[in-house]
Amino acid sequence: MDCVLCRIVKGEIPSYTIYEDDFCIGILDISPCAPGHCLVVPRDHVEKFYDLPDSGITKLFVAAKKVARKIRKAYSPDHVCIFARGGRLPHLHVAVFPSSEGDGVSGFPQSNYPRPTVDFAASADLLRNA
Ligand SMILES: [Zn+2]
Repeated sequence: MDCVLCRIVKGEIPSYTIYEDDFCIGILDISPCAPGHCLVVPRDHVEKFYDLPDSGITKLFVAAKKVARKIRKAYSPDHVCIFARGGRLPHLHVAVFPSSEGDGVSGFPQSNYPRPTVDFAASADLLRNA
């Protein structure tokens, strides 16, 4: 499989690494939404966060927290946000990025997408019974 993030983890593609541990790496996103936008990437190829065992989830989010604290210290944003992904780029990664009031992501997701009409009772039933 030709996975860009696996190749970055192996060092075959260069990256700006800002964090490393035995489970994952933290790198700068090459298409950032703001300065300091990072990705926390498990070293092993896993596509979705819900495919990780609980022990992996713990390691991944502890690393995301450490990266978030680095972003907070370096850039002093109002918030540091996370977003677990693994779709378009099919290797799990947690986007960790700074956000301040009024920027492009401060109201995400409500401000950036048309709001659907939701039957909340039906949606709650679906999720409770899933
Ligand atoms: Zn991969």
